Amino acid sequence: MPDDLSIEKRPGRVAPNLTPATRASFGWDEARGFLDGLPGGAGLNIAYECADRHAASGRVALRWRGASGERRDVTFGELARLSNRFANVLQSRGVKPGERVFLLLPRIPALYVAVLGTLKARGVVCTLFSAFGPEPIAQRMGIGDARVVVTTPSLYARKVAPIRDRLPGVTCVLVAGEGVVPVGTESLDAALEQASDLWTIPPTSPEDPSILHFTSGTTGTPKGALHVHGAIVHHIASARFALDLHPEDVFWCTADPGWVTGTSYGIVAPLALGVTSVVSEGEFDAEAWARILADEKVSVWYTAPTAVRMLMKAWSGHRELPHLRFVASVGEPLNPEAVRWGIEAFGLPIHDNWWQTETGGILIANTAADPIKPGSMGRPLPGIEAVIVRVTDGVVEVLPRGEEGEIAIRRGWPGMFREYIGNPERTARCFAGDWYLTGDLAREDDDRYFWFVGRKDDVIKTSGHLVGPFEVEKVLTEHPAVVEAAVIGKPDPVAYELIKGFVVLRSGFEASEALRLDILGHARKRLGAAIAPKELDIVASLPRTRSGKILRRLLKARELGLAEGDTSTLETP
Ligand code: ATP
Ligand code: MG
Repeated sequence: MPDDLSIEKRPGRVAPNLTPATRASFGWDEARGFLDGLPGGAGLNIAYECADRHAASGRVALRWRGASGERRDVTFGELARLSNRFANVLQSRGVKPGERVFLLLPRIPALYVAVLGTLKARGVVCTLFSAFGPEPIAQRMGIGDARVVVTTPSLYARKVAPIRDRLPGVTCVLVAGEGVVPVGTESLDAALEQASDLWTIPPTSPEDPSILHFTSGTTGTPKGALHVHGAIVHHIASARFALDLHPEDVFWCTADPGWVTGTSYGIVAPLALGVTSVVSEGEFDAEAWARILADEKVSVWYTAPTAVRMLMKAWSGHRELPHLRFVASVGEPLNPEAVRWGIEAFGLPIHDNWWQTETGGILIANTAADPIKPGSMGRPLPGIEAVIVRVTDGVVEVLPRGEEGEIAIRRGWPGMFREYIGNPERTARCFAGDWYLTGDLAREDDDRYFWFVGRKDDVIKTSGHLVGPFEVEKVLTEHPAVVEAAVIGKPDPVAYELIKGFVVLRSGFEASEALRLDILGHARKRLGAAIAPKELDIVASLPRTRSGKILRRLLKARELGLAEGDTSTLETP
């Protein structure tokens, strides 16, 4: 099907937050008006907006579903009180504003309490994915200069104790939940029990640091991007426009808070807007996910292409999800087949949107207000000036519509990261004049929709053509037998690089030479001989980061027998 075929959506049950009028009149000051600010004009603090200002509402903030079937609803009031206690715990342990509190926790309520409590104490919080092994943890805690670690007894024993002597700055370790409290740590529950419910958030400037996030490490060593309290203005505006969050929604963001999606939209945005969030502790399981969507009456669902493709493999037929009204995805390009699959599977298309750890929040999106163009990541949100540029010797040239180049964003939107900690030189490389340079290639069409081409590092040069991997992968996934695809450039004496593809089959298809040739033939017919893969492997799975992104650099290293580089975020090392 042609790329630009747009999906006209049925009118929704709820009027979208984004309309031509809101788009035209938008300003960041107006978005700030959705927040209260600290009492007495003491500034802007994320935790106050997320908990305290809704404390009297009696509403449920988190609908927690434990991995073993436990259930617990946490109200905004409880979250406000418990995070006050956590702030008192930090203060009594001598933690100062700006010091780093690292969380290595499963998706349990203590994680949310610790994030907000740290922000209330004006500490900087860094959430790490709890499946990381000791080495990536040591690396990140070293770069981030960890002062406090919050974890569980078993994660401590397996992952922190072995590296504790490499973390001399860590003077306090709190362990949450069941189990014997290991030597050298204290019980978080006991500490919270003894702490006061009362806490006054100290004055907080929108420029004060708030959250430290490591990037996914898709292209190399993960970088620690530092964000500020003022980013919340971007979180709420983008959640209203790109996720169409309304106060009465039940929202499920499936990302782990170890990744930026899991904090910006799994914690900050819904809580700040007073929306109830579903938190599921369990890992991906197609049946369990379908049950959560139905049983918890999820109305807005934010997930990732990798999860969508896994669901595509396992989902059968059409299921009624009468409460679901809006679905969005982020993290990787969403192939048109996956966008349309949503319509078949539960009657709604999937809205792709684009952003990065560094951007703090969604910048470009298919929204509730506009038709979806399957395969496109949508249009820049209000307040975001996104352009396509070519950078030559540090000079930025904005390219005309239709040309491929790097996505650049005019600096100054509230969610923008402030630095990669400990790496001023790398930070400086991201900026040129007024522009933040994203490292992603795309083109913009006449309707201002952006089409992802690939990461600058992944672009393939073959027989004089520059080929973005997504263009080829998109076509491979149009073959009925293919659910997932990745392509790489392999050095070649004639073509410079030749394109090699790797595909994963949908369930019900068996790998065979005939099928492999059929997929190659399909790609050649659709793409032409110059751009179609010359080689193709059918594989059981693709290597990916823990945040679900395909690691093309690893496919390439393995193919060429080269060193694998930084694999700290690889899902199954
Ligand atoms: P690293 O910077 O360490 O290599 P990373 O870039 O994968 O890792 P993240 O910040 O988690 O780390 O991911 C942002 C990147 O994910 C974007 O720069 C882009 O390449 C990709 N991405 C996110 N959303 C989309 C999307 N909708 N379409 C295409 N690519 C996307
Ligand atoms: Mg990146």
